[in-house]
Amino acid sequence: MDFDLDEVLKTLPGGDEGLTLVDGGLMESGMVPTVPAKKSLLTPKAIIHQKFGDKACYKVEEVQEETKTGCLGLAIPQKGPCLYRCTLQLPELVVISDTFKKKKDAEQSAAEKALEKLCIHQKEYNPTVQEAWDDLGGRLFDLFATEFLSSHHPLSGHFRAALQREGRLCGSVPISVIATYDAKISTICKYINSEAESNFLIVLSLVLRAASKLDNLVTSVDEQLSLQRRNPLLPEIIHALVDRESRLSESLSIEVIRIPSSVEKTVEPLVLTISSNGYYVDVIAQELGVNEASKVFISGTIGKASSDMRLYYNAPECLLMDQLSEPHVNLASHDKGSLNARASYLSGQEVFGDAILAAVGYSWKSSDLFHEDVSLRTYYRLLVHMMPSGVYKLSREAILAAELPMAFTTRSNWKGSFPREILCTFCRVHRLSEPLFESSIDLSGSCKKSKVQSVKKDTNGAPVTSSCGKSTGTIGDFKCEIKIFSKRQELILQYKPKESYKKQTDAMQSSALKVLLWLNTFFENPDMTTETLSSSAEKLGIQFSPDIFSKKFMFCQSVHKFGSTRHQSSKPINYSCINQPNNIVSDKACSICGDNSEITPSNGSLACVSYSISLVTEGEFLKEHIESSEAFEFEIGSEAAISRLEAVVTQMSVGQSSFFNMELPPQEFILAAAGDSAATQSLLSSRRCILEYAVTLLQVTEPLEERMEQALFSPSLSKQRVEFAVQHIRESRAASLVDFGCGSGSLLDSLLDYSTSLEKIAGVDISGKGLARAAKTLHPKLNRNSSAEVPSNETRSVLLYKGSVTNFDSRLYGFDIGTCLEVIEHMEEEDASLFGEVVLKSFCPRILIVSTPNYEYNSILQKSTSSGQEDDPDEKNKPKFRNHDHKFEWTRAQFNHWASDLAERHNYDVEFSGVGGKADVEPGFASQIAIFRRRDSSLKNVELEHHYESIWEWSSDNM
Ligand code: SAH
Ligand code: MG
Repeated sequence: MDFDLDEVLKTLPGGDEGLTLVDGGLMESGMVPTVPAKKSLLTPKAIIHQKFGDKACYKVEEVQEETKTGCLGLAIPQKGPCLYRCTLQLPELVVISDTFKKKKDAEQSAAEKALEKLCIHQKEYNPTVQEAWDDLGGRLFDLFATEFLSSHHPLSGHFRAALQREGRLCGSVPISVIATYDAKISTICKYINSEAESNFLIVLSLVLRAASKLDNLVTSVDEQLSLQRRNPLLPEIIHALVDRESRLSESLSIEVIRIPSSVEKTVEPLVLTISSNGYYVDVIAQELGVNEASKVFISGTIGKASSDMRLYYNAPECLLMDQLSEPHVNLASHDKGSLNARASYLSGQEVFGDAILAAVGYSWKSSDLFHEDVSLRTYYRLLVHMMPSGVYKLSREAILAAELPMAFTTRSNWKGSFPREILCTFCRVHRLSEPLFESSIDLSGSCKKSKVQSVKKDTNGAPVTSSCGKSTGTIGDFKCEIKIFSKRQELILQYKPKESYKKQTDAMQSSALKVLLWLNTFFENPDMTTETLSSSAEKLGIQFSPDIFSKKFMFCQSVHKFGSTRHQSSKPINYSCINQPNNIVSDKACSICGDNSEITPSNGSLACVSYSISLVTEGEFLKEHIESSEAFEFEIGSEAAISRLEAVVTQMSVGQSSFFNMELPPQEFILAAAGDSAATQSLLSSRRCILEYAVTLLQVTEPLEERMEQALFSPSLSKQRVEFAVQHIRESRAASLVDFGCGSGSLLDSLLDYSTSLEKIAGVDISGKGLARAAKTLHPKLNRNSSAEVPSNETRSVLLYKGSVTNFDSRLYGFDIGTCLEVIEHMEEEDASLFGEVVLKSFCPRILIVSTPNYEYNSILQKSTSSGQEDDPDEKNKPKFRNHDHKFEWTRAQFNHWASDLAERHNYDVEFSGVGGKADVEPGFASQIAIFRRRDSSLKNVELEHHYESIWEWSSDNM
């Protein structure tokens, strides 16, 4: 069960004395032992020094580059930061630290490891069981001494208040109060019985036993769950203390929350009135239906440690003295029926019967009774705060608008708490150990190939904006492994990432996010089966222990009673409305109003909106404001806002407003957001409601790439690319065109402004949102009446397909011209190569135009727009890509190599050109362009193969 202290001691030099405390544990004035006054602030190194003095020998070494085989351990690249590792030599033990940037961290880590090996807890307080018993007695002795009454200890307030209790109870203090409010007692008890930490009853029984040995000093009162002095205090003393107390306060009213034991019953607010001479625990006892304070148990603090918010609940009735005298009491075996799931979930300990959540107690700093109202909203916020997505939503103060993003974007585009913080918060509120992050650098390169498989697509097949600039493999790649342990060091979960990142922080944040997203699926759907949970974990590379996991989170099911929210809200955009473009805007579920300013957000841009969300009863008779924001900013494409909101915003332009309704998300989110939770709760329980969103798009910040291209070139670089393509299309006299990676259709749209010989135009993209916008702009242009200003066009049909250009679709075989502008760099390099193969080998366009950034030009772009976009200092000296969604950017040599090789193998000629800058002036064009021409003109018959989804179609026949 617990380790044998005596055994451990024997293994140490100097035997028992070696561990005797210097400043604690020694008897004072003959009989009163003292315990160190504060929890230890000593560092591991200081503790080692105390115990071993000069015998502890630290050696710090610089870690050299290691060329270990495989991915084991940590290998350091040449150019990485200099790291240190420390070897600590003790008389009978040698430990080696992990590596750190700072020498002193390496030393502390070694000391910490040594303490762990020696089973010495971080506190210098480390008594034998017998010493701990003595200390416990000593501590009780101190507490009941007269001097304690005037100290500023939270417990002294209870002792003073107890003096005002009536009759027999005068001066009697509940044992549960003593056990809860004295940190020293709980620390000492852990050394007597290691289970004391998780089982409150054990602490009670230990306190009781220690008190019984002090029977000339304290005595237990009737019910035997409180203690009082055997010799009452002198009336003068009581008088002086009580007098002081009653001067301080009038009677108090405190708002608290009642959490009924049955989950069917709703949680309700309640007001407690505490008279100036009353003991507040007695008042709570009455509310809980028992006659006095000693029948009330008190949980550890909940939420912010500073608030003294705790749960108060009835001591289980079956609890008798003789059970307490047996220290292995197990509450679980008793009254399972009355287990309060919600309260147990909040407090992380078993709570029975109805419970009261209150923020009240005597504080360290003054003798006043601290108190704060606990509203329903506070309660629901606590619940929401225990979910990974909840922490994120709360940190953005946008509970009904924000969503935990699917991928870690750049630091500057990530809003709200960072994934690592969220994961730490999650572990803290669920009373787990701090998560362990282990970064490693993978030099082997052997993992490279497996990355191809894991090219990140989210479940809808859309590309995830994994934007951390994934390394294409020149220097070592960073990976970050995560382990989560329970407080008792049981391994609950382990994540081994497949992807690696160029920067350590990106690796860490991305790993943390992966784990959070997985945990979140569970929290949003806690009754998913172990099989479903396991298979989703497996897919992500997460291993977890189902037994410990379900034990840790067993109350989730009864607390978070709802299905998956992401499912509900993430209906992909409604394609039926795109097929009838007339209805795009007047789709009855969403109306957009205001003039079209043409400034629209696209993937990677930051949209800033103001919004207001109200709860509306059906028929709109009653309306309750729930949440609003003057400026809510999110990156388009990373799912950082609820998907409906993002989908609507991508259809809007700056200055426009939109209104739409949503089915209700889980009630706890609404109640956590609502200003007046009570009114909201009653509305929710009495009527069928929906949420009404009103959104205005205030501003769009385009990705850096676009800003650079606009600032430096006139016409803008994107316009120049389009014009370059249009010119070639016109010169080629092509009748059919396919735009690979058409995005929101900028090229197709421009083409309609020129007269061309094109009859058939197609666009393919992997992003449904981009295609939706393309349809929206193309439709009115195609349908306009042929008036004088409109160029004459042959266009018969325009088709938009959804799919990846790395897949072949025979409907686009043998077109006259194919374009692929600024697309390949958005794919993994392997996919870019694959696209090259597929397009020349299978699609066989007569002409193919491919453009991509010229990496060598970046220094010029970046010099002229060093707007300090990245607030991350280590970003400064690193090569930057133009857009954080770019997976690579090639130099001229790399692009030439790719294109020439490809052309050669597929019987094409290739010629190079570009826009922005000049071919013969260093560093060449800003955007480099390859034009492929098929050498032979014959076409073969191809088998029908449909891999694309037809999204939208326009045909001149329907005009
Ligand atoms: N050609 C457009 C858009 C460039 S942005 C223009 O010049 O404006 C890059 C586009 O490539 C995005 O719309 C993205 O969705 C698309 N894309 C990325 N990978 C893709 C893939 N594998 N298949 C199809 N489209 C892809
Ligand atoms: Mg690009």
